[in-house]
Amino acid sequence: SLSDTIIEGKAEILVTEKNVFYNPVQEFNRDLSVAVLSLFAREKYDENVKKTNKLSDNSHKNVENSVVFPNENKNGISILEALSATGLRSIRYGKEIPYVDRIVANDISSKAVDSIKKNIEHNKMDHLITANHQDATIFMYQSRQNRFDVVDLDPYGCPSIFLDSAVQCVSNGGLLLVTATDMAVLAGNSPETCYVKYGAVSIKSKACHELALRILLQHIAAHAGRYGRYIEPLLSVSVDFYIRVFVRVFTGQIKCKKNTSKLGMVYQCIGCESMTIQPLGSVDSESYKLPSGPPVDQLCKFCRRKHHIGGPIWIGSIHNQSFVDKLIESVDNMELGTLKRIKGVLNVIHEELDIPLYYVLDRLMSIVRCDTPSMIKFRSALLNAGYKVSFSHTNKQSIKTDAPTTVIWDIVRAW
Ligand code: SAM
Repeated sequence: SLSDTIIEGKAEILVTEKNVFYNPVQEFNRDLSVAVLSLFAREKYDENVKKTNKLSDNSHKNVENSVVFPNENKNGISILEALSATGLRSIRYGKEIPYVDRIVANDISSKAVDSIKKNIEHNKMDHLITANHQDATIFMYQSRQNRFDVVDLDPYGCPSIFLDSAVQCVSNGGLLLVTATDMAVLAGNSPETCYVKYGAVSIKSKACHELALRILLQHIAAHAGRYGRYIEPLLSVSVDFYIRVFVRVFTGQIKCKKNTSKLGMVYQCIGCESMTIQPLGSVDSESYKLPSGPPVDQLCKFCRRKHHIGGPIWIGSIHNQSFVDKLIESVDNMELGTLKRIKGVLNVIHEELDIPLYYVLDRLMSIVRCDTPSMIKFRSALLNAGYKVSFSHTNKQSIKTDAPTTVIWDIVRAW
């Protein structure tokens, strides 16, 4: 029978099996991943070439070095797409990312794997991509001795069950890409379910999209920590109905311990929705600091109501701005279907202050039952008061600022 074909990026996908997943809405996700991985692969390649040159310079001095001398043709990266469905993503990675040596496109469903195989053949990518039919968790555990530079997790819903094995099969300094689509759970509709799935209590908040990113990052960091590994987020994005994070994974017990200082609880007043973040403690300081935020039974200092408590959330940086800089530059000459949107999102992210969470202008004004001033006026009021202010890419009405909540309420009340 005739099969439909879908063209996305440089891949052409045969869709013969109705039950094999293809989601056109995720083109942005795949485009962004191609962009991030292209930059990551190029940097890794340069690093590897430097290492190779160094080794060959010294090889006459130290015979032992020849044992670890890397294969000259293998300076590119290896990628595991653990949940591949049609193979589309892997084929795009293979065709569009320079410096890739090896890709494994895995799926648990035999129909999916049939489709992956057909698509690899149809796109003439057999030299680079291997189809694999296994439960992703088992395959990732088995790959702990033969790690991948990049592991991509793009599940339906929640990625939790894949994280324990995923954090172990990423190489040191490698990149883990994780999608989560269960936004209702992450965004506070079911705090208990969120705790069960992500080890953190979510709260209903106007800042829910960034909270979702920070809950997921906290969860990945917790998994990594169990194996003496720590994470460094390169880019964290919330768009449409899902979130996507790009984090590097490193090995190092000492830095792992510092993880605690990147975690905090969120207190949100049930009345005026003022937020306070309570860091979980700092291992940097000699004496373990006692919490200085509102204790559970302390009332909100603005409206004397109680607090909802959520977390723990990741309160460290969610983007690496120097990576984002380079990414903005490098996407300029890439051919991507959603390039315009990628540039738009990256430019807002580039301006984002490295301060957790944000308030939402119309919500602030509706709490005090006042008309909403223009965003530009509100922002200049904060700037004139000597504070920094930016948007969060997750919300057009967001106000991210280093101003204390008191100052925000002063401005709101004065309006
Ligand atoms: N990454 C794909 C893309 O961009 O087009 C879409 C992946 S789809 C959302 C999720 C896939 O995960 C499905 O094909 C499903 O069969 C597969 N899957 C679910 N559980 C799995 C498991 N334990 N191991 C491997 N694959 C699994």
